[in-house]
Amino acid sequence: MSKRYILSLDQGTTSSRAVLFDSLTGQIAGMKSIPLRQIYPQPGWVEHDASEIYSDQLEAMCGAIEEASIDPGQIACIGITNQRETVVVWDKATGKPIYNAIVWQCRRTSNICDDLKMSGLVAVIKKKTGLVIDAYFSGTKIKWILDNVEGAREKALKGELLAGTVDSWLVWNLSGGRTHVTDYSNASRTMLYNIIDLKWDKDLLNELGVPESMLPAVVPSSGVCAVTRYSTDKSKTDNELTYDERVIKNILDTEIPISGMAGDQHAALFGQACFNPGDAKNTYGTGCFILMNTGKSPVESKNNLLTTIAWGIDNQVEYALEGSVFNAGASIQWLRDELGIIESAQQSDIEAEKVEDTGGVYVVPAFTGLGAPYWDMYARGIIIGLTRGTNRRHIIRATLEAIAYQSRDVLEAMRRDSKIELNELKVDGGASVSEFLMQFQSDILNIPVLRPVIRETTALGAAYLAGLGVGIWNSKDAIAGSWNLDKVFQPSDNKKHFDALYLKWKKAVERSMKWDI
Ligand code: ADP
Repeated sequence: MSKRYILSLDQGTTSSRAVLFDSLTGQIAGMKSIPLRQIYPQPGWVEHDASEIYSDQLEAMCGAIEEASIDPGQIACIGITNQRETVVVWDKATGKPIYNAIVWQCRRTSNICDDLKMSGLVAVIKKKTGLVIDAYFSGTKIKWILDNVEGAREKALKGELLAGTVDSWLVWNLSGGRTHVTDYSNASRTMLYNIIDLKWDKDLLNELGVPESMLPAVVPSSGVCAVTRYSTDKSKTDNELTYDERVIKNILDTEIPISGMAGDQHAALFGQACFNPGDAKNTYGTGCFILMNTGKSPVESKNNLLTTIAWGIDNQVEYALEGSVFNAGASIQWLRDELGIIESAQQSDIEAEKVEDTGGVYVVPAFTGLGAPYWDMYARGIIIGLTRGTNRRHIIRATLEAIAYQSRDVLEAMRRDSKIELNELKVDGGASVSEFLMQFQSDILNIPVLRPVIRETTALGAAYLAGLGVGIWNSKDAIAGSWNLDKVFQPSDNKKHFDALYLKWKKAVERSMKWDI
């Protein structure tokens, strides 16, 4: 029998990529990534062209298949993972979006959120959805489209429009307009889904004026939820299709099952095989995204962390706590692009290792305020502890260390909320290549830090979910067995020293707070 592959479609904020995994070895056999055009119509507004998202994703898919030189018939299943919260509203009959996708970063619905807060809904929304009221989440974005696109609300009420996050948009298109679904993890980011009752919440739908008929059916994150089919453009006969269209038709008409779906951070948690309560991962990218599996019951946070559905499998959902660090890799970019004291991100490591310590210097990169557990939007960045002997290497090292300190801040908040002790931390993302940062992270947390071989954990997680859905793996244990370790960073035997450093970090953070009032 010929080899079989799992196709992961990883639709991110800045790129659409496709990754083919060998179903036996888990190795990457082909990959293609297409940068996504960002649209900024006004300050604070961010959009994507939803049609472009789909066509880029198809192009990436074709590229990965070409690189792996395989036949579409060898693709056992498709897993989808996506930028979360971003919404698309489209016409059910034509399949055309009625407005650009409104991206999670977009702040245009801040005033709608203020109104919700004024109506006293903070506690209710937190209880039902696990979220804090914020323009990030999808609900207010759908309301905005219905309020601002001419005729949209009437069409929506007549059942002529559909709305969904990017996973839904992709499945709808990949299934030739036959299937309108989302998975539990994506639903839990909409601020419309009750994560306890596992239903679209009628009160919240009413509050935002979103008809339930627009919304997708919520399905498990693993299991066949749709089958691909080329969406025929009625104005063209098969002979009139371009070469590329014929290639795509050939692939989609193979009727490949779509059997895995999860939001990107949830897929990464799954890709890191964090299957037990207390298992946590940290993705070190522009910011850090930290998720901890809390098992079958949701943990309500007292530190303004988010409670979210990690995934739902076989109608059993598992929950996670989520916290983020706004500026992680971004602060390394700042050293490079604004301060000009390094030439590349990699150089930060080399320079940091050339000094024994920071010489007492702390950098608090609160460029856009501080998130969990401080929640101070008026905090601003500081460099503190300077002496006549301070040089650029101390500052570089302190900036790298700040990423680890901020991650400990979030993980400590998670420990306080969940009462679960963390035994180890799994890591991925662009900055996880930094040996210095990973070792320091392990030291500052006093636990082992585990870095996997495959750093494409988001795509891998979607592949695991899809593979589990069609029986390539028959259990999560089997998946955990195929997760491969690249390197483990063990904490140095000097807890006292690192706790003292961390204590001083808290003091530095205090100095940065309430600055820009
Ligand atoms: P994103 O997905 O958020 O764009 P990536 O996962 O691609 O981010 O990671 C890129 C980030 O990682 C950049 O902000 C960069 O500064 C940081 N980075 C990359 N390599 C290193 C390194 N060796 N040391 C520290 N930071 C790094």
